[in-house]
Amino acid sequence: MNKDFILILGPQGSGKTTQARKLARFLGYKFISSGRTLRKLSTEKNPIGLKLSEYWIKGELVPDALMESILFPMIEKKKAKGFVIDGYPRDVAQLKSLLSFLDLNQWAISHVFYLHVGEEESLKRLVDRRKKEQRQDESSDAIAKRFQLYHTETEPLLAEYEKMHRLEKIDGERTVEEIQEDLRSRFK
Ligand code: AMP
Repeated sequence: MNKDFILILGPQGSGKTTQARKLARFLGYKFISSGRTLRKLSTEKNPIGLKLSEYWIKGELVPDALMESILFPMIEKKKAKGFVIDGYPRDVAQLKSLLSFLDLNQWAISHVFYLHVGEEESLKRLVDRRKKEQRQDESSDAIAKRFQLYHTETEPLLAEYEKMHRLEKIDGERTVEEIQEDLRSRFK
């Protein structure tokens, strides 16, 4: 079965989860958020759940092999014509694994959307979110760690996507509706 892949990346607080979910619904694709999947699994009282919480609560990345062992079977199992993925790959090593996995199945990435939001705006949104959601991984230390990891590990992906001719930069400092309209217009 042919499957299409759309990736969304951006700093924390860029609104990528909201946009990815809406876009998936619009396209009739499955939405996968690596962060949400991990948070859900870590509420399970089993060794994997406990191990996962150790990483994400501190804002550290979950090891690649563990991440793959969770996400790849999910993708294989779901009967969908496509996926909108938020939060994966998080670094160049993860991208390489994803590309091999897709290649093996003869699947491909059609779009990579980079939601661009300035650091000041992104921090402001995180502070607002912390007030509302009280996410366990949004202590000041965890936020700082995640920002640092975003710069050192995730940003280098942009150059990779550029080389693949897949990168589409989206202005993330607009309303949710405007951004979504922009994303959808790229499928007309
Ligand atoms: P997010 O909701 O995408 O900000 O992810 C929350 C946390 O889950 C991150 O701080 C990491 O600890 C973990 N996480 C999410 N996606 C990945 C990934 N692709 N690789 C490793 N860890 C991840």
